[in-house]
Amino acid sequence: MGNVETQVAATGDVQQPASATMDGFQLVIDALKLNGIDTIYGLPGIPITDLTRRAQADGMRVLSFRHEQSAGYAASIAGFLTQKPGICLTVSAPGFLNGLNALAHATTNCFPMILISGSSEREIVDLQQGDYEEMDQLAIAKPLAKAAYRVLHAEDIGVGIARAIRAAVSGRPGGVYLDLPGKLFAQGLEAAAGRNSLIQVVDPAPRQIPAPDSVQRALALLKGANKPLIILGKGAAYAQADAEIRALIEKTGIPYLPMSMAKGLLPDTHEQCASAARSFVLPGADVVMLIGARLNWLLSHGKGKTWGGKSAKAWGGQQFVQVDISPQEADSNVRIDAPVVGDIGSCVAALLAGIDKGWPKPPAEWLKAIHDKKTANVAKMTDTLAKNPSPMNFHSALNVVRDIVKANPDAMLVNEGANALDFTRSIVDMYKPRKRIDVGTWGIMGIGMGYCVAAAVTTKQPVIAVEGDSAFGFSGMEVETICRYKLPVCIVILNNNGVYKGTDLDPTGRDPAPTVFVKGARYEMLMQAFGGVGVRATTPAELRSAMEDALRSGEPTLINAVIDETAGTESGRITALNPTAKKK
Ligand code: ADP
Repeated sequence: MGNVETQVAATGDVQQPASATMDGFQLVIDALKLNGIDTIYGLPGIPITDLTRRAQADGMRVLSFRHEQSAGYAASIAGFLTQKPGICLTVSAPGFLNGLNALAHATTNCFPMILISGSSEREIVDLQQGDYEEMDQLAIAKPLAKAAYRVLHAEDIGVGIARAIRAAVSGRPGGVYLDLPGKLFAQGLEAAAGRNSLIQVVDPAPRQIPAPDSVQRALALLKGANKPLIILGKGAAYAQADAEIRALIEKTGIPYLPMSMAKGLLPDTHEQCASAARSFVLPGADVVMLIGARLNWLLSHGKGKTWGGKSAKAWGGQQFVQVDISPQEADSNVRIDAPVVGDIGSCVAALLAGIDKGWPKPPAEWLKAIHDKKTANVAKMTDTLAKNPSPMNFHSALNVVRDIVKANPDAMLVNEGANALDFTRSIVDMYKPRKRIDVGTWGIMGIGMGYCVAAAVTTKQPVIAVEGDSAFGFSGMEVETICRYKLPVCIVILNNNGVYKGTDLDPTGRDPAPTVFVKGARYEMLMQAFGGVGVRATTPAELRSAMEDALRSGEPTLINAVIDETAGTESGRITALNPTAKKK
């Protein structure tokens, strides 16, 4: 949350003459500002249009989108990047429903976010008398949120916002819903009473110190390991304990594997990074320490062949240390031998304190085996990337992105798609923490342009988005938003004319196949329509030059990178999750 100075400044901003009254709009704005929240991602309409206007007039940044889903994704990733709840503001029923996808996304991914929606009048909704956009929004939001609240009286706005903030950022972060019926905004409070009713949340995300015996148990397990491995997840990236995490890895000498959004916590080129030997280290390790990563589907539930198990469901025999803020996470899939419960900063600091000078480096045999595997795989990849096929394919296009990211390590990288996601994750190295933001736990499509806006606004760095042509379609209209706010966003669409690829056919010959799009679509013209730069690139050289221009100029740019329409596999790397593939 904002430091004390900014919060005092925010309070100072909102001083009003003693005789004035404050209405609900003002109370919401002042409550947010008092807590260091300076940005709203949303879409105006009844009953919150004036809230957007007045928040802007009061100095807040109000970013207005073309669809609430994008505003919501923007808010969710702003929460991840800043540790403050990202605010998404929507109108009632349909707008609220459009925002729900992002609310569920925030909850699932442990991102702090507050979806604030205007709603219709309780008395009419509850009697189902057919109010304008009648819907029991609170009930609908509850199962998708970490917490959900409704405020009916102006004097409770301060409490409502304070509770929403605490719920979003404390413990395991998540999505919170705050329901504000239209009538609330018109209610007035005498100004002094209004100011008094607001709460400046003290220590919204308290440190959670791990129990010393849990730390000793974890250290003993790690110390005795022959083939230790650390897995860093996006919880570790969120925690902003970058120096401590790096020190822990370097002092122990343990090889590590970053999950997708933890890439760059240490540079991917770090000698202890085992990404290029992933399928070797997971089954090979005997003790695995998870730091802010869940043993969910993305890690094959800690079981099966990925982990050296004899069958799909069998446990591979590893022992696990799990560092996590949620005490319920341990044992979710396999036995956790040493849970360390607390915030990652405190846990890693406590582990570090227990690592003395005589800490044994992992056995040389284990390190050499990983090194050999990595060297072989990197050589193979280097060969593949050096090829220059015509038409371009994922590899030759991403080789360019890889160079551009290397030359611009502060730039943010947004990534979504199927093959576009998988290939980018494995080809494009990241060099700094929290620079890569992507589809997250659900592998969701549609985060792209919302993430671009929030990344540009919160980090003030250039943004590169690598998008599958299908993924881009979910939020493509937000290029207007990007142009309107003149954001330094360079979108690269890896365009192979369809979902997965562009060559499927309707066996009846009647329609296009469900997975294919208009061939040769000119996506770059979408950007040109709103005054941005649009480029069609058919070779790596054209792509490189267009990306360099975009980064140099900071102009909103869309590069339609035309790649081989036969490139790409069904569902990228998760083909096996298709029901028919499972049967085979
Ligand atoms: P990934 O997808 O990268 O593997 P996950 O989303 O599965 O990561 O896991 C993130 C984990 O990090 C969650 O279990 C969450 O409880 C935990 N977490 C989030 N923030 C913190 C924090 N500040 N301290 C400790 N654990 C955290």
